[in-house]
Amino acid sequence: MPELPEVETTRRGIEPAMVGRTITGWTLRQPRLRWPVVLPDVLRGQRIRGVRRRAKYLVIETDNGSLILHLGMSGSLRLTRADSEPGPHDHVDLRFDGDRVLRLTDPRRFGSIHYQEGDWHTHWLIKDLGVEPLDNEFTGDLLHRVARKRRVAVKLLLMDARVVVGVGNIYANESLFRAGIRPRVAAGRISRDRFALLAQSVREVLAQAIQQGGTTLRDFVDESGRRGYFSQSLNVYGREEQPCYQCGTVLKGLRIGQRATVYCPNCQR
Ligand SMILES: [Zn+2]
Repeated sequence: MPELPEVETTRRGIEPAMVGRTITGWTLRQPRLRWPVVLPDVLRGQRIRGVRRRAKYLVIETDNGSLILHLGMSGSLRLTRADSEPGPHDHVDLRFDGDRVLRLTDPRRFGSIHYQEGDWHTHWLIKDLGVEPLDNEFTGDLLHRVARKRRVAVKLLLMDARVVVGVGNIYANESLFRAGIRPRVAAGRISRDRFALLAQSVREVLAQAIQQGGTTLRDFVDESGRRGYFSQSLNVYGREEQPCYQCGTVLKGLRIGQRATVYCPNCQR
């Protein structure tokens, strides 16, 4: 599943080639994605002003509105020549002037595209989202405040999109390891200082993944068409029953909210 770092890597890859271009049309080979894709005629002739990211949504801003895209479970975007032959899962092409198209590939079809006129921040998919983990508002104080008196496992708090967006399972596991916090500890019992360390850890883990082009599983294709790779730099995720790189203790696995959770019983308290 494309996580925040893959989405951000995609954004950085496609933005330079799209800004200032004019949308000339599109080809919808399969409109039945997570929701039916409907692209209004008003989009034609609009100039692309920027490509933004909010949580795992990519937002293509134009003169009058925005296209809000989500890659779902298996989606990827790439810029390709307009005359290149589409594959069986290449469901949407967005054409702009020049000879390139933005092509959405999505075998499992959980991705989505919406058009929003005016300010995209008001869109129903966007408006209730929590803070961005890489923004300055995401701090230990914020986590400490929302955690007050709550018995929910700290890992679930970290993965709650109403609190902070885009911290998927892999990055929640890795951030908690980095901060030395056990995933199942009740959020309300964690001190402000430890939350400050956790917020910093989330930031560092995500920034590192973005730098590496995303720490992905199988389905991600980066903007140059390379397959994603499984990063060797993961400390705990996927390493249950293997020795901790830091201390040699055997890593423990459990499930929290149905999600695979791995931690070091020695390094994490
Ligand atoms: Zn350890």
